[in-house]
Amino acid sequence: MGEQPSAKSKKATKATDEKPASAKRTKTAKPESRLAMVRRARRMNRELADVYPYAHPELDFRDPFELLVATVLSAQTTDLRVNQTTPALFAKYPTPEDMAAAVPEELEEVIRPTGFFRAKTRSLIGLSTALRDRYDGEVPGTLKDLVTLPGVGRKTANVVLGNAFDVPGLTVDTHFGRLVRRWKWTDQEDPEKVEAEIAEIFPKSEWTMLSHRIIFHGRRVCHSRKPACGACPIAHLCPSYGEGETDPEKAKKLLKYEMGGYPGQRLSPPPDYPGKPAPPLGTPAGAE
Ligand code: SF4
Repeated sequence: MGEQPSAKSKKATKATDEKPASAKRTKTAKPESRLAMVRRARRMNRELADVYPYAHPELDFRDPFELLVATVLSAQTTDLRVNQTTPALFAKYPTPEDMAAAVPEELEEVIRPTGFFRAKTRSLIGLSTALRDRYDGEVPGTLKDLVTLPGVGRKTANVVLGNAFDVPGLTVDTHFGRLVRRWKWTDQEDPEKVEAEIAEIFPKSEWTMLSHRIIFHGRRVCHSRKPACGACPIAHLCPSYGEGETDPEKAKKLLKYEMGGYPGQRLSPPPDYPGKPAPPLGTPAGAE
């Protein structure tokens, strides 16, 4: 680790010179109008696009079936752990037909590192059987069909649609929900209501990349328990600035993955990823 800070993290430190949105609002004491919030949200999205031009799904996959399986496995664990597990899984069960015919105990052993491996095995065999029997072994490309597969909810379906089929989708996971509430884009808690409200703010064409940018920011900077406010490149637009560490030096130490000089989550990241690839299973990750 111990690398020089990336251009992005330098930018992060510099960007905090501007006064945070929370401070500006306290001064005027005027509630933000809907129009002002929408403008601020769109500006935040543009600035996040500058910070994370390389934002991408953090699961390794080569086709829709692999992405579907990896997304099911990602429940209650890190994408890194899934990425470290799937090479062996897809070597043993490359197609839905192979996975549908798996001996459950053998499949459980392969996916054990991802946790909840009995329930996940049931889902994988169930969804592979459904793909084999109902969809000719192909992953369907619609939300309506995807959510009928065992273990596949709306969030998983949107991940698959957005990233394997280029159908715009908002992925409301734990990071997405936490950040959009901190940013006062919505006060909804229910993921479906969050999705509906955010869909009103942004054009469809932005949905997939917006989701990646928000999730990238949640994993690297705006953490659940210790947000790195003092090193946050969009602090000047954030009404929750100060919820986390504001000292720039201390905040920099909280940054993760490429922002902190650590490896990323993918063993095979896209070519434009500025960080290092994740290590294979069994290697200490450092930033997990
Ligand atoms: S890290 Fe702090 S300033 Fe940045 S988005 Fe999160 S709460 Fe706001």
